[in-house]
Amino acid sequence: MMKITVIGCGYVGLVTAACLADFGHTVTGVDIDPAKIALLKKGTSPIYEKDLTPLITANIQRKRLFFQTSLESSIKDAEVVFIAVGTPSLRSGAADMEQVMAVAAGLAKYIKDYKVIVNKSTVPIGAGKQVRKIIQDRLGADIEFDVVSNPEFLREGYAVKDFKEPDRVVIGTDSPQAQRVMARVYEELIKKGIPYIQTNLESAELIKYASNAFLATKITFINEIANLCEAVGAEISTVARCMGLDTRIGPQFLAAGPGYGGSCFPKDTRALAHIGRTSGVPLTIVETVITANEEQKARMVRKIEDAVGSLQGKTLGLLGLAFKPGTDDLRESPAITIINKLLADDALIKAYDPQAMKEAEKVFGKTISYCVDPYTAAEGAEALVIITDWEEFRSLDFPQLRKVMASPTLIDLRNLFTPDEIKKHGFRYKSVGRG
Ligand code: NAD
Repeated sequence: MMKITVIGCGYVGLVTAACLADFGHTVTGVDIDPAKIALLKKGTSPIYEKDLTPLITANIQRKRLFFQTSLESSIKDAEVVFIAVGTPSLRSGAADMEQVMAVAAGLAKYIKDYKVIVNKSTVPIGAGKQVRKIIQDRLGADIEFDVVSNPEFLREGYAVKDFKEPDRVVIGTDSPQAQRVMARVYEELIKKGIPYIQTNLESAELIKYASNAFLATKITFINEIANLCEAVGAEISTVARCMGLDTRIGPQFLAAGPGYGGSCFPKDTRALAHIGRTSGVPLTIVETVITANEEQKARMVRKIEDAVGSLQGKTLGLLGLAFKPGTDDLRESPAITIINKLLADDALIKAYDPQAMKEAEKVFGKTISYCVDPYTAAEGAEALVIITDWEEFRSLDFPQLRKVMASPTLIDLRNLFTPDEIKKHGFRYKSVGRG
């Protein structure tokens, strides 16, 4: 078993650290945020993610998982160092490499013997070589090290499962020594027969962006088909289901809705489009997907307006704020764009999310009201809008909602229900892509 350091204990770093410790490695998670490290040392996860907390506490108890703020002492004994810091968007759309480069500069100060530096952050093509150069320039030729790209494909809400049972593991490096080390890191997954692909740095870096952009395209495609359904009298659920039954297409990512969001798709599509532009190979499909996704969110606001008339002074109940169920992550959630547009039109927002209320307060402050359940959010509302498809919203008590709402209108931006079942309850119903 190996000694591993993971730098950055955000969504990806924390899941990586906890799962690698669970595979039997001794792992130290490092973060510059002392509050996060203090929580983690107590076994408390700073994020809501199914199955993560028990994994953290169990491996802390087994003395295989440690957390600290000091990079220097974490590097000394580590054979492998994962970089899992953020790569947010710059104004140009390019990925901001500041955090990754700061870590590279820090590593250069402390490396004293052979290490494998593994980039798990999603980075532009060529970033691995840049990391190598920063470290090499400071270290000189005496100390050997390798830089590997090992992109992460986990889905928030299923992060632990996805790390332990991934569709594939991608390892990008030309170094046979680094390949041998990485095969030991992922021995557990290789033994299970998980597809394990070794390629060069550049291909590994591109695989991540290409995969995310393709998924974002699939979502955007079905959203545009849903909009067409509304115009021509077709029904998106049936159209999508029958498309998905074609094994060449597949059923996933064909649920029409308010547009993609989250910590990855928006920034990764922008970054890939930027890479295309600067490489002289414009990625016109990706560029269009980005624009169409923005329009989809704006379209949702128009849908709400169509249902309630002028928004000024109207109370709206909103269900779901996280960018998808199973997480408290609000990064680039469609809910943010939709709420900001509704607030700009002077609507009064009462919101409920099963997990993301604390995160929502950081984003919206006192501009919206935070409710303890769907029924409190619905109280006095002219319409109830479902933005995130949390499972618990499927069992809403409609007679109870009718009693407390000013007007029984449901705007279901995730198509959780069918028009027939909602109309039975005496509600006006609007959804996405039902002509
Ligand atoms: P995050 O913002 O949740 O976490 C980043 C962490 O790095 C933070 O805790 C921050 O304090 C820490 N950090 C920043 N600079 C540091 C430094 N110099 N030393 C130590 N710690 C430092 O980000 P995330 O969502 O975990 O994403 C990390 C990377 O993984 C990104 O490139 C992202 O695109 C990629 N990714 C994310 C997901 C996802 O679902 N969130 C999935 C696949 C890939």
